[in-house]
Amino acid sequence: MPSPRRTFAIISHPDAGKTTLTEKLLYVGGAIHLAGEVKARGQNRRARSDWMKIEQQRGISVTSSVMTFEKDGVFFNLLDTPGHEDFSEDTYRTLTAVDSAVMVIDAARGIEAQTRKLFEVCRLRNVPIITFVNKVDREGRPVFELLDEIADMLALDVCPMSWPVGMGGTFQGVLDLKTNRISRPDGDSRTFQGRVEEAPELPPEIAEEIELAQAGYAAFDPEAYRAGDLTPVYFGSALKDFGPAELIAALAEYAPPPRPQPAEPAPVQPDEKDVTGFVFKVQANMDPQHRDRIAFMRLCSGTFKRGMKLTPTGHGKPIAVHSPILFFAQDREIADEAFPGDIIGIPNHGTLRVGDTLSEKPGVRITGLPNFAPEILRRVALKDPTKTKQLRKALDDLSEEGVIQVFYPEIGSNWIIGVVGQLQLEVLLSRLEAEYKVAANLEPSPFDTARWISSDDPAALKEFTDLNRGALAKDRDGNPVFLAKSAWEVGYIADRYSKVTFAATRER
Ligand code: GDP
Repeated sequence: MPSPRRTFAIISHPDAGKTTLTEKLLYVGGAIHLAGEVKARGQNRRARSDWMKIEQQRGISVTSSVMTFEKDGVFFNLLDTPGHEDFSEDTYRTLTAVDSAVMVIDAARGIEAQTRKLFEVCRLRNVPIITFVNKVDREGRPVFELLDEIADMLALDVCPMSWPVGMGGTFQGVLDLKTNRISRPDGDSRTFQGRVEEAPELPPEIAEEIELAQAGYAAFDPEAYRAGDLTPVYFGSALKDFGPAELIAALAEYAPPPRPQPAEPAPVQPDEKDVTGFVFKVQANMDPQHRDRIAFMRLCSGTFKRGMKLTPTGHGKPIAVHSPILFFAQDREIADEAFPGDIIGIPNHGTLRVGDTLSEKPGVRITGLPNFAPEILRRVALKDPTKTKQLRKALDDLSEEGVIQVFYPEIGSNWIIGVVGQLQLEVLLSRLEAEYKVAANLEPSPFDTARWISSDDPAALKEFTDLNRGALAKDRDGNPVFLAKSAWEVGYIADRYSKVTFAATRER
């Protein structure tokens, strides 16, 4: 029997404390020995790789990574989601590969825009959420106000699992409502380091608050949590080490083990014998000297063994996975074995794409990794027209990686790229230059959005395509796409051609 797995992500608005919490979780999990190492390591990695210049310039992390650590016999796989404000497809896809999430909220700010978007993505897939209200060592909003905001804005039952005894200047510790023990700052409330535990002697107003809260909010119900209907709420300070250990314990005790994955012809169960997994992310050119890529595969069933042959569904011959990589926080190690819930990195030269299912069993296809209709379309204009071939190769590669979507119009040679967030445009230009030596401009496109078209009625589809050729394109995989000047036009056209389906997402 493999050790239990907890595969999770942290979702938050920038600045809420995700990096600090990640560091502390890795520290508590014994994976790193010095606070600050996550950022330091990140910088080394960035220095090595040219195209990540943009990350340095903007101080953001564009790419996700995987961090694995073990604590008390449980293996934790923490998948990092990009921390910038643009919603990206990369983030969405990463969230398809987790079984649960920790939502970090700044105690002074409550639910912010990005937290909310990411939460909605989790909700679509019923991903259960543990809430961590961070920074209670600073002045924050009243506890009841925060709890009610979470409940109202996210339409979730909330259950406080701990309670801050004061915040900011009056911070005196955090009470664990289950064990009824209090962690107090070791030293005065401003400059303290670490904490001590003792039986509580609560100020009367705090005792009263807690009594009210316990009467007013739902009791903790593990089933409701796992169904995504209730969130347990922990209060703490990632910076001052209040909360990380409790969060790890909560993940171990309550968070779901690897879940069945939606798939065709039938959901893939974690206890199936055959190995099945899917690629949720491809990271290319980690080393600019080599055109290598790492496909990140989430294992959904079976026991993966090094050297095993897996077949990518839809295209191709079985590939033998000889040097799979496991992502321990300090090192990358070659994996001999991996179990459901684990993420393995598969080095390859572009054969594996985001959305691919890899399986020992022919014909299985994990579903639910959509392409989104792009919200921003741009025409790509080459500065040097002799570089057409390189540009096409670059656009194909980058769309395969999920950085952009590319559309080749049926008429004319103005290739169009589509993204869901502005930041992806910058990533595109910087990578075109750094990796493909292609200088290009992005110009306004006459189109505003795109829809994948299909129909059960070939005559109806032909009538539509014959009359709208100027707005038709093919995506990277050759699927027909309608480019529209506005969302309004999509509605108008969809009404007129009722036998044609205009899809805003396309499942891969
Ligand atoms: P991220 O953008 O969500 O990754 O946030 P960071 O972890 O980088 O934190 C943003 C800022 O908040 C940094 O200056 C942190 O030192 C600070 N911070 C994070 N957690 C805490 C906390 O618990 N208390 C206080 N006072 N500051 C914190």
